[in-house]
Amino acid sequence: MKASKTKICKYPKCSKEVRSDASLFCIEHSRNLKNNFETVSNVMNKAMFAAAVIGLKGLMKKKE
Ligand SMILES: [Zn+2]
Repeated sequence: MKASKTKICKYPKCSKEVRSDASLFCIEHSRNLKNNFETVSNVMNKAMFAAAVIGLKGLMKKKE
């Protein structure tokens, strides 16, 4: 074992070194994951909004 704190990217089948201590992934994958995360969070927001609207509609229908 080396004394250096070189980390390897956590991405499956990727063995690139991670430059930053704070990052779990290599530069390429951290960028990919950030993009994915933003996409997922956007989709989640829309889905939650849609679910809330549907839920409200459902409640209103039940009351009518
Ligand atoms: Zn990687």
